[in-house]
Amino acid sequence: MTTTPENWMREALQEAKLAYLIGEVPIGAVIVHDGEIIGRGHNLREHGQDATLHAEVLAIQEACEYLHSWRLEDCQMYVTLEPCIMCSGAIINARIPVVYYGARDPKAGAVHSLYQLLDDERLNHQVEVHERVLARPAGELLQTFFRKIRDRQKAAKKARREATEKN
Ligand SMILES: [Zn+2]
Repeated sequence: MTTTPENWMREALQEAKLAYLIGEVPIGAVIVHDGEIIGRGHNLREHGQDATLHAEVLAIQEACEYLHSWRLEDCQMYVTLEPCIMCSGAIINARIPVVYYGARDPKAGAVHSLYQLLDDERLNHQVEVHERVLARPAGELLQTFFRKIRDRQKAAKKARREATEKN
């Protein structure tokens, strides 16, 4: 298997699709160490009813368990969407040296969009970041997800309206 950033990101996209299939906002992440995936995760906030169950956090937990270490040195994270404040904090705390992400998140992104946490020199760890890796499929998956939600809400509204008109 050739191990280009795009190939690893495809694995993260697979995770995002798993989230999509169960009705979670489709975001996925993998952590690679020595050419091998040692942590995977997809957003599980709704199923767990837990605000911290983001793809990146779950991938970090699995990787730490695998390495028996909270330090994820010599690891790379691939995540389909720009990490939020919490996940950027987790990446810094886990000392992950390199992060690849897909689409930017103008509403919550803390790597480029709203904050630039991963290269803040006041912190004791900086991260090398590569963005826009397979950004298009990652963004399209999110757009499809939110379009479906809007369509469902519209249909529900219409059904309610029709029900009241009948009464
Ligand atoms: Zn997050």
